[in-house]
Amino acid sequence: MNVSHLECAACHETYEARRLLNLCERCGKPLLVRYDLRRAAATLTKESLKGRAASLWRYREVLPPSSDENIVTLGEGFTPLLRAPRLAASTGLKELFIKDESQNPTQSFKARGMTTAVSMALELGARKLAVPSAGNAAGALAAYAARAGLEAHIFMPLDTPRANVVECRETGAHVTLVDGLITDCGRMVAERKEREGWFDVSTLKEPYRVEGKKTLGYELAEQLDWTLPDVIVYPTGGGTGLIGMWKAFDEMQALGWIDDKRPRMVTVQAAGCAPIVRAFEEGKRFADEFPDAATVASGLRVPRAIGDFLILDALRASKGAAVAVKDEELIDATREIGASEGLFVAPEGGACLPALRKLLAAGAVEPHERVVLFNTGAGVKYVESFAEDSL
Ligand SMILES: *Cc1c(COP(=O)(O)O)cnc(C)c1O
Ligand SMILES: [Zn+2]
Repeated sequence: MNVSHLECAACHETYEARRLLNLCERCGKPLLVRYDLRRAAATLTKESLKGRAASLWRYREVLPPSSDENIVTLGEGFTPLLRAPRLAASTGLKELFIKDESQNPTQSFKARGMTTAVSMALELGARKLAVPSAGNAAGALAAYAARAGLEAHIFMPLDTPRANVVECRETGAHVTLVDGLITDCGRMVAERKEREGWFDVSTLKEPYRVEGKKTLGYELAEQLDWTLPDVIVYPTGGGTGLIGMWKAFDEMQALGWIDDKRPRMVTVQAAGCAPIVRAFEEGKRFADEFPDAATVASGLRVPRAIGDFLILDALRASKGAAVAVKDEELIDATREIGASEGLFVAPEGGACLPALRKLLAAGAVEPHERVVLFNTGAGVKYVESFAEDSL
């Protein structure tokens, strides 16, 4: 539609968009989608959005498929931005919101990335899709591939939450459980994909998942009446949502919708797997692989992220922060959020609350500021992680 080209996020080499591509062929870093935003702005106006469907496809002009016929959708996106008045009171904030991504198809925000990635894979002629996943990406790929009539080949760690394994099998995917981490799963996909004819839809190893996830940024602005919050607290694994929102803010500025003021971006990771927090603290632009990664928040168990420099650049450019939270803290927080606001959040979403408390205690967030926490998935998929007295 309005895609002009792809651009390497590191070396800025440009590529024609109408072919299946993974990483930059010159430097091996992620490719990002660029648009003719002037052309997009001709029909995509704040006013025009009023009558559009309550899905992320309302931002059609800045999403990649060239033909509407290739859109593979289950009704994802435009999730509620809920006020959290009791948590605001208990943390001492005036305004606190939770973006509830558990209300997406397959109950996590991975649906956002997969609707665009699978649509583009279909449009560009891929037939067999493969992904390494810590859990929710697998469930989302399985569902969207089935919806598109494509094959899904999924590699997950053996100890992935049970619900993720079951949902993949029940939606027709080929599932391989691996005695290792998501990085080991990624290596298995890489080794076999050529021989098997698989297209690798690992996050940020193809250009389109980030396009679906960037709609988080468009939605926040629209739902806050074209303003942005002061602080965004985001549970970070591969970082696709954070990178996507940061991209969306620039696009919206180019569209003339917002000014150059940006939220402070905060990465939250589990103490047992915190490569970005460590790199942030050490002043590095690239993160070392985190050894012996372990956390019940499976979406955060990403010891090495290919988009590390994009996450770290955004954190620093926004004067944001990176915070690690222990598993006991994030599990306790799921019960606190559940009991006070009625949301049974994923452990990854739970992690945002103790992180926020640490930032408030350090004076890095102030009580008058408007803060958004992300609940990225549904607690019900992680039943085995919760306290014995809940089971
Ligand atoms: C994948 C996942 C994350 C991490 O998302 P990234 O955009 O890859 O950083 C967080 N929470 C949940 C529930 C996830 O499934
Ligand atoms: Zn490059």
